[in-house]
Amino acid sequence: MEVGPGNGGRGRIRMRVLIAGGGIGGRTAAPGRHAAGIECVAAESAVELRPPGAGIDLRPHAAGELAGLGRGDGLAEVGVRTGFQTRIGRSGGTILALPRGRTSRSAGSR
Ligand SMILES: Cc1cc2nc3c(=O)[nH]c(=O)nc-3n(C[C@H](O)[C@H](O)[C@H](O)COP(=O)(O)OP(=O)(O)OC[C@H]3O[C@@H](n4cnc5c(N)ncnc54)[C@H](O)[C@@H]3O)c2cc1C
Repeated sequence: MEVGPGNGGRGRIRMRVLIAGGGIGGRTAAPGRHAAGIECVAAESAVELRPPGAGIDLRPHAAGELAGLGRGDGLAEVGVRTGFQTRIGRSGGTILALPRGRTSRSAGSR
């Protein structure tokens, strides 16, 4: 990254970013830095990356970040839009009903 004023007038500093881990954080941080013109290297210790085996619930803020990285179409292709996440007890009663998707956004949840 080139940094202008702020280093005592000694010129610009070129910085390379190392991202440790290729999980959700690393996989969004790397293209985000790249889009901003920041050189970065991502290192992942796992030999093989596999699907998590469980559904992942993305809140609107996370979906917005992916859309900002140009992954919105891919997300729409594999994702299922939800309205509520409901947890039901053994007796059939609702324990918890959390707004999700657009409902979540209108409820102010991130
Ligand atoms: C069962 C379960 C269900 C979940 N469900 C949801 C959900 O529905 N929605 C949601 O938003 N969140 C969910 N989460 C939370 C979510 O998985 C985490 O918040 C998210 O994975 C954190 O991302 P991360 O990139 O910080 O870490 P991680 O995804 O854990 O990635 C870290 C990566 O770093 C690598 N690594 C570790 N040490 C090193 C090293 N020294 N050098 C290089 N690489 C290294 C690891 O191999 C790993 O790939 C769930 C978590 C669990 C356990």
